[in-house]
Amino acid sequence: MTADAPVRRLSGVGPKVAERLAGLGIHAVGDVLLHRPSRYEDRTRITPLAELLPQTPALVVVRVEHAEVRMGRRRSLMVSASDGSAWLGLRFFHFGSGQQARLAPGAWLRVFGEPRMAGYQLEMVHPEIEVVADAAAGHAITPQLLAIYPTASGVTQARLRDMADQTLALMARDDFWPEILPRDLSGPALAMTARQAVERIHRPPVDADLAALIEGNDPACRRLAFEELLGHQLGLRARRRQIRADKAPAMRDAGRGLAPLFEGLGFSPTGAQRRVIGEILADMSAAAPMLRLVQGDVGSGKTVVAAAALLTAVDNAWQGAFMAPTELLAEQHHAALTGWLAPLDVPVWLLTGKKKHDEAAREAIEAGRPGVIVGTHALFQASVVFGALGLAVIDEQHRFGVDQRLALRNKAAKKGRAATTAHQLIMTATPIPRTLAMSAYADLDTSVIDELPPGRTPIKTVAIPNTRRDEVIARIGQAVADGRQVYWVCTLIEASEKLEAQAAEAAAEALADALLGVRVSLVHGRMKAAEKAKAMNAFKAGDIDVLVATTVIEVGVDVPNASLMIIENAERLGLAQLHQLRGRVGRGSVASHCVLLYKAPLSDTARSRLSALRGTNDGFAIARADLDLRGPGEVLGTRQTGAATFRIADLVRDADLAEAALAVADDVLAYHPREADALITRWTSAAENYAQV
Ligand code: ADP
Ligand code: MG
Repeated sequence: MTADAPVRRLSGVGPKVAERLAGLGIHAVGDVLLHRPSRYEDRTRITPLAELLPQTPALVVVRVEHAEVRMGRRRSLMVSASDGSAWLGLRFFHFGSGQQARLAPGAWLRVFGEPRMAGYQLEMVHPEIEVVADAAAGHAITPQLLAIYPTASGVTQARLRDMADQTLALMARDDFWPEILPRDLSGPALAMTARQAVERIHRPPVDADLAALIEGNDPACRRLAFEELLGHQLGLRARRRQIRADKAPAMRDAGRGLAPLFEGLGFSPTGAQRRVIGEILADMSAAAPMLRLVQGDVGSGKTVVAAAALLTAVDNAWQGAFMAPTELLAEQHHAALTGWLAPLDVPVWLLTGKKKHDEAAREAIEAGRPGVIVGTHALFQASVVFGALGLAVIDEQHRFGVDQRLALRNKAAKKGRAATTAHQLIMTATPIPRTLAMSAYADLDTSVIDELPPGRTPIKTVAIPNTRRDEVIARIGQAVADGRQVYWVCTLIEASEKLEAQAAEAAAEALADALLGVRVSLVHGRMKAAEKAKAMNAFKAGDIDVLVATTVIEVGVDVPNASLMIIENAERLGLAQLHQLRGRVGRGSVASHCVLLYKAPLSDTARSRLSALRGTNDGFAIARADLDLRGPGEVLGTRQTGAATFRIADLVRDADLAEAALAVADDVLAYHPREADALITRWTSAAENYAQV
């Protein structure tokens, strides 16, 4: 058996279990080796009962002295056991007659569990038990730190342990899971071999530092993390090469040009927008697929840039897809693009995966009619067939993962023409530091929109404690009286969407009560898409003065007349998110204000965050401040799926290893192509290959 054989080949793994294992990222037999334990149980010694501590799991050897079924609130089997030094209770709520028989008085048991105080006595509920012949047999253990694995429903710890046993036994053979890294490679984490590292994370020596193993700082974790980062990096580079080798539609027809689009905008594109559009059109005119990331601060006008690319695709008789992270945004983009492109006779369809009217759009899309399709991830659905997808624009990339990008890419095709790959344009408002960009997007070229449209008055930001809430509310009344519109953003970090919705509802009511005659409305994540759109449209049309919202408005929402934003609990949000939120105002020419309402006392970092926001409106400066405050990597956020798919590595913790992997990647590709392939297979391809099945 080889490491890339399907995991079903292990004994005890049937199709059902294999399916659940896939959810854990275990597809091939070799993946079992890379399934890192989340913790370890100390089974290095037998603890005398007299030394047991509450809440500290331990291995003990005891004799059953007494056992009875108690009827109480819940029927339970209560066993009193002793090792001569003290007593211990063992309680079972689920038990059969077999279990009862084994736990009869006189039986010797080896027990592992977590004792808790129950009355005056320590008790273990449903501990792991093993019947042994006598005390001596009970004490004869092989000391070990037992690996406990992250698991999924339907996959027991025992199953995972058994799979690890089988796979480690296979690894003892030389040809199964061999060393790959070239010997001449040097790096900060190469003190041990990968095989030694794997052995160590699954079967740590009894003197290992468990905290280091759990947190990933153990040399074994670092050894594997380095190899993983390298494999990932090589995979991205290989993928880039592979995509570049595909054929893409060369969009060389200048068509009507972009002049008609620009004339209808009502403003003239900035120099930065024109430059980036130029870079994009140059890419699109080539027969190799464009893979370009556009970074531009909130409000820098990325949508127009996308519109220019989409129009070019349509003028070359192809379809362009524009994908947004939320339905709300998809609808907004649909409205904006319709406003700009419909007058040029470019059809703009909206596909959200829900509405009935999708039918007509789908037909046109499938027939390959040139036009623009705006949608959410519903565009990825297998049932959406593009007749002639030539360009895919993905907005606010940090919400999507590499796999989703690829899914869209695979949809590119045109009936009656040779198979092609669509050009890809990815847009993000989150500036990404270099190492991170290289680790997550090594397959992309980058353009930066480094200029804001003229006439924007910078947003004035103030931080006010929530004890002065009444003042802030009075200020809202004033702003509304002056004909301006206001966002009130309710934030609850790590709380449920439900709680957040409740908080928003309460805030909306309170505001409506406090501000008579002011039209207050609400948007939150628990509302139906149609309701959300209705509220947004009313706000956009000026029929609503104050929009109370949850962070659903974080990205992309565009209402130029809104010039005051209040952010509640601002101290709990990260810099990048606050900057994104704040970017919803300051879009028109009136002076805009952002009030960061906070609850005192502020922590030092919260204070630094709020003052960074007060100090600058520049997204790149904010990203740098964010880096200083949080360290590298966080900037990508947990939604950055590319980063989330690492098995061992963590871009924040292992930033030095990422750097080292970048440094050697070229050499490995150039001088060790076979090893490069093997690393890619080991660390990246399993999930992808199997995902397509
Ligand atoms: P973002 O980069 O955050 O996606 P948008 O594309 O939503 O920004 O643009 C923000 C606002 O600025 C929109 O109302 C858009 O119409 C407007 N806008 C874009 N480019 C310009 C420009 N060159 N001059 C004036 N307004 C512009
Ligand atoms: Mg946008």
